[in-house]
Formats: sequence, structure tokens, C-alpha cells
Amino acid sequence: MEWESDEKELKATGAEALGGGRRGLRIGGWEIESRNHSILTSFVLQEWHAVASWTWDAQDETCGICRMDFDGCCPDCKLPGDDCPLIWGSCNHAFHLHCILKWVNSQTPQAHCPMCRREWQFKG
Ligand SMILES: [Zn+2]
Ligand SMILES: [Zn+2]
Ligand SMILES: [Zn+2]
Repeated sequence: MEWESDEKELKATGAEALGGGRRGLRIGGWEIESRNHSILTSFVLQEWHAVASWTWDAQDETCGICRMDFDGCCPDCKLPGDDCPLIWGSCNHAFHLHCILKWVNSQTPQAHCPMCRREWQFKG
């Protein structure tokens, strides 16, 4: 799939493409850039680079998708921290960014929160 066609799906999730020839997306203040691969079609997550930094605000909680602790990382990542950020939905449920992106991508055209089944929108 070409990046251009991914862009429409991104918009449906409340994310927007970075543009300017950069392969990445912007969600709720985050800029996630993929150096080599289109984000929605290939989850070579180790290649991702989160431009912003992040402080955890969810202690003693686990990701509703992978069930791993929020102070750890998703099963696709080896190290917790900036490379495996948490992201909140408009329903205030939080997930690993990688987990929810995979979920959203498998639920097109409209994804619902895995926890409360409300329409999923990334919290802006
Ligand atoms: Zn997770
Ligand atoms: Zn991850
Ligand atoms: Zn929810």
C-alpha cells in the first residue's frame, strides 16, 4: 500500500500525516516518524522514532490490549520509554501507542476503544 492511501485511514483515527515528504503522523501533540516504512502497513516498530519526549502519567495500570504494565513496553518493543509511548483516547483510556495503532488498523473504517467500545479518537 502506498503512503498516500494510508493517509485517509489516518485521518479517520484523528491522526494526521506529517507531510512535507516525511513519513509519519501526528497524534495529540506527538510526532511519530517512520524512516523507511509506511506506518500503517508495516509495523517495523523498532524503526520508529518519537520526536517528542514523554512523561508517564499512568501508574499501576496495564495496557488493555497487551496486558503489559504501562511502566513497561508493548510486546513488540524491548525497552520502555520514549520509543514505546502511551497514548490516550478521547474516552480517557490509555494504551501503548503501538498496541492501539495495530488495533485501529485492524478495525477500519471505524475503530472502537477495546475497553469501553466507544468510537476511538486520539485525544488531542
Ligand atoms: Zn500494550
Ligand atoms: Zn511498543
Ligand atoms: Zn475507552
